[in-house]
Amino acid sequence: MYVKPIQLPYHVSQLEVLIRRVKPSAYRDDLTSLYKRAMAGFRGEQSLDYPLSYLPKDDFFIFHDLRLFDGHHHFQIDFLILCSRFALILEVKNIIGKLTFDTDLNQLIREVDDSTDVFDDPILQAENLNMQLLDWLERYYGISIPIVDRVVIASSAQLQVTDLKNDRIKKIVRRAKLKAELLQVNQQFSKDYVSYESLKKVADALLANHQTRVIKKFTTKLKPNDIIKGVQCPNCDTVPILKMKQKWVCNCGHASRNTHLAALRDYFLIYGPEITNQKCRDFLLLKSELTARRLLHTLCDYFEGKNKARIYYLSRDILHEN
Ligand SMILES: [Zn+2]
Repeated sequence: MYVKPIQLPYHVSQLEVLIRRVKPSAYRDDLTSLYKRAMAGFRGEQSLDYPLSYLPKDDFFIFHDLRLFDGHHHFQIDFLILCSRFALILEVKNIIGKLTFDTDLNQLIREVDDSTDVFDDPILQAENLNMQLLDWLERYYGISIPIVDRVVIASSAQLQVTDLKNDRIKKIVRRAKLKAELLQVNQQFSKDYVSYESLKKVADALLANHQTRVIKKFTTKLKPNDIIKGVQCPNCDTVPILKMKQKWVCNCGHASRNTHLAALRDYFLIYGPEITNQKCRDFLLLKSELTARRLLHTLCDYFEGKNKARIYYLSRDILHEN
């Protein structure tokens, strides 16, 4: 069963909002290429849902996009599959073109159309994650369990390797072969290393220690004028639409009391949960301080400070607004 289900990672939602909200600039081009790459990666991960559904639900805990901190560095695992006998790390690649795994120089070379790109060796990446997780589990929970790592190719890329004799290339698995590989790994381990109760505790601890990746590189560099402000019409995408009496009204005919929720979700993803009355009016292009105060009181978990200096904290529930 999924302990951490397949969901669009937070930083990818941030990228999506930034592309929509940043005025046309070099930033937007950088953000767009980052977003495209991240979305391709996510779609590859999503496509593993089907082969993973073959795992017996009660025996396995599955985590998608788990990011842990080892005291020095963060490490991110695309999929972690945990049972009482072993743990399995899946590093997922969804890259098109011709992929050459160079196990001597530890690189992945991609040729597509007339261009060549060089990536980090995903086999080595998966092996490093293996060591980091092994160390993390031992250090924090005193648990020692065999950890297996695989590189899953989710695309239909043409694959080749520089050294057919190198055993490590056996770690490369095509998505279509993943189901068989899971069964094979499952059969390989028969001894229990932890009790089911301990395993549940470790699963809870892994989830509690997940650290969401947040993009700060762009958001800290952005100036107030780089961002397109205002409430966006969900019907025709016009920005901004204005509040008339009780409703947000657009020329296309859209009229709703709650259209500001999506704009405040955008605000949260760009700037984080902290907001003031002034910032709220500035972003939603609202004139009335009283209207902004009413909105913030219904949408915030708590606030601190008084009068103009009051800082409100937007509820995370707002992130689920579309
Ligand atoms: Zn409209």
